[in-house]
Amino acid sequence: MNRIKDLLDFDRAHLWHPYTSTIDPLPTFPVARAEGVYIYLEDGTALIDGMSSWWAAIHGYNHPRLNAAAQKQLDAMSHVMFGGFTHRPAVELAELLLSILPAGMDKLFYADSGSVSVEVALKMALQYQESLGQHKRRHFATINGGYHGDTWHAMSVCDPVTGMHSIFSGTLPIQYFLPRPRSRFGETFVEEDMEPLRQLLATHGESIAALILEPVVQGAGGMYFYNPEWLRRAIRMAHEAGALVIFDEIATGFGRQGTLFATERVGVSPDIMCIGKALTGGYMTLAATVTQERIATTICRGEAGCFMHGPTFMGNPLACAVALESCRMLLESPWQDRISAIEAQLRRELAPAAEYDSVKEVRVLGAIGVVEMKEPVDMARLQQEFVRRGVWIRPFGHLCYIMPPYIIKPDELSRLTNALLEVIK
Ligand code: PMP
Repeated sequence: MNRIKDLLDFDRAHLWHPYTSTIDPLPTFPVARAEGVYIYLEDGTALIDGMSSWWAAIHGYNHPRLNAAAQKQLDAMSHVMFGGFTHRPAVELAELLLSILPAGMDKLFYADSGSVSVEVALKMALQYQESLGQHKRRHFATINGGYHGDTWHAMSVCDPVTGMHSIFSGTLPIQYFLPRPRSRFGETFVEEDMEPLRQLLATHGESIAALILEPVVQGAGGMYFYNPEWLRRAIRMAHEAGALVIFDEIATGFGRQGTLFATERVGVSPDIMCIGKALTGGYMTLAATVTQERIATTICRGEAGCFMHGPTFMGNPLACAVALESCRMLLESPWQDRISAIEAQLRRELAPAAEYDSVKEVRVLGAIGVVEMKEPVDMARLQQEFVRRGVWIRPFGHLCYIMPPYIIKPDELSRLTNALLEVIK
C-alpha cells in the first residue's frame, strides 16, 4: 500500500491532470484495472462507470474482442508512417466508416485526436475557400455553448465562457458567436431562432469560411439538446451565403444520442464532419475528418495542390485495427435497443431530481442523462461521495451527468442514478 501512496504523492507533485491546479490539485483515485462497466481502484474498490471515459468506452473496458484485435495488430506492426505507405487497418476501417457515415461523405483524413480533427476540418474549410478565390473568407461562426477541443483554433470556436478557454480570448482569432437555438430537441421549432444567423450572414457573410456546430447535442460546453430543424435551415442559409458547414460529431457519434450519428436526425449532410472518442471503443486516441468529394477536389485544385496536413502518427495501424473491431462490434450489437432502454430508464429514474430545490433541469437523450444544477457543484466533494457509493460520475460546472457504456445492465444503471440523486439531494 505504501507504493500506492508514493505513486499518489509523485502524481500530486509532478503530474498535470485535465484542467487542474498544481498548487491545489483535485484528488485523483488510483485505478488498477477495469473490466466491463467496472473500474477497480488499487485498494480493490469497484466503481460502476457512468462516464464511458468521456463518451469513449461504449463497449465497457478490457473487452476480449478489442484486446484480441490490438494483440493481433501488435504482432504485425503497431505503427508505420502513412506517407508513402498504406495498410489494411486504415483501408478497412475507412471502408466501414464511409459505409455508415451520412450520405456524400467520401474522403477521409485520419487525425490523432478530436481536437486535431477539428483543426483539420477548419483548415479544409479555409483551403477550400482559398481555392475558390474567396480570400476574405477567413473566419468561422458557431453558436454559444459549444465545445470543440483544446488546441488553438478548436478553442477559438468553443463557447467564450463555458468553453473553458476565456483566459485566451484576447489572443484567439476573432470568430462569430450566435445565441444557441432556444428551440429544444423534441419541442416546437421557433422561427425567430434563425434571426441571429440571418443577420450575421447578411452583415459578415462574405468573411465566413464555415459554420462549425455540434449537431443536436452540445457536449462539454453545456450538455444542451436542440432542434434539428435549426440545423437543416442553418445548412441551407450557410450554403446560400457561400459558407461551408462542419459538424463536430466527436461526442455525438457512434450511437450515443440514439442514432448512429446526430446528422441522421438532421437529414442533411454537412460539408465536413469530425468523428473521434468512441471510434476506438475508448482504447486509444484516434479521430477522423471526413468530407465530400467536391470539397476535397476543390481543395486539391488550389494553389497548394494538396491538403496541407500530415501528422507523424496519421492512420496509426494499432488504433485503426481496434477502431475497426469496435465499429464491427457496435454494428453487430443490438445498440438501438440498448440505447433506447438506457434512455427510458434514465428518464424514469432521474425524473425525481427535477423536484429538488438545487436542480434547474433534468434532460435525457439517448444514453445521456443530465441534471443541471442551479449553482456550480463542488466537484471534489461530489466525486468523493460518488466513489463512496461505488460509482464513477464526474460532474463539472453546473452539470452532473451520466453516459454509461452501452453494455450496462439495468441494476447497474439504477445504482448510478440512485447515487446521483442521493448525492445531489
Ligand atoms: N469536439 C467535441 C464535441 C468534444 O466533446 C471533444 C472532447 N471533449 C473534442 C472535440 C476534443 O476531442 P479530444 O479531447 O480528443 O481532443
